[in-house]
Amino acid sequence: MRKQIAAANWKMNLTLTEGEQLLDQLLANAYDLNGNRQVVFAVPAPYLAMANEKVKKHAHVAVAAQNCYSKKSGAYTGEISVLMLASMDVSHVVLGHSERREYFNESNQFLAEKVNIALEHAITPIFCCGEPLQIRESGKQNEYVAKQLEESLYHLNAEQLQKVVIAYEPIWAIGTGKTATSEQAQEMHAYIRAQLAAKYGSSVADEISILYGGSVKAANAKELFSQPDVDGGLVGGASLLADEFKVIINSLK
Ligand code: 13P
Repeated sequence: MRKQIAAANWKMNLTLTEGEQLLDQLLANAYDLNGNRQVVFAVPAPYLAMANEKVKKHAHVAVAAQNCYSKKSGAYTGEISVLMLASMDVSHVVLGHSERREYFNESNQFLAEKVNIALEHAITPIFCCGEPLQIRESGKQNEYVAKQLEESLYHLNAEQLQKVVIAYEPIWAIGTGKTATSEQAQEMHAYIRAQLAAKYGSSVADEISILYGGSVKAANAKELFSQPDVDGGLVGGASLLADEFKVIINSLK
């Protein structure tokens, strides 16, 4: 049974104190996080140690970095290596978020290198894919997402691929309040899973969690997550509000 995951992406928001308070509020709540459900907090890099310290008593709650570099160490001022993350027991890293692709020019090939180095250090990549509005309007979203997966993930063997979490985030739905309908989300998630099955076999594809991201909130999480191929969400704005994110966590299948 693949994991159902509620992942918070704080992006570049919150002060340290605000972040501490938000985690305290969320972790004080009792959730039914059986072995199959997981919560992940992708916090800004300066807060990773704080967040890890807070979640370590909570089974099924993990911390993610929002990015890492493709090299192990060296003269790369300002970058964060997977060795650093591993040395802090950070278990996950978000890779290929559309904001990084757009503002920091991250290509599919560069992301393949980041995926590799994360896996080499036993850090779970949460690999983001998703099309911009003009691609959706031209009806070419499947081909666009297939290319992202192919160029960043398909060099992996089945054992490696099974360690990756995929997040489908249509760019037109991010921060816009314009959520994909549950049918649109399901259609793309089923397509992604079918692509993975064609390449790696259905027993591998069935084990991979595919999260939906883009204006997930308390009011729509249940319906989105109830779709058969939607295994939870990667949540931006609504993850900054304790009351909203609690409902989102409780909406996992
Ligand atoms: P919003 O939930 O704010 O639309 O952001 C989605 C996202 O980019 C999560 O990574």
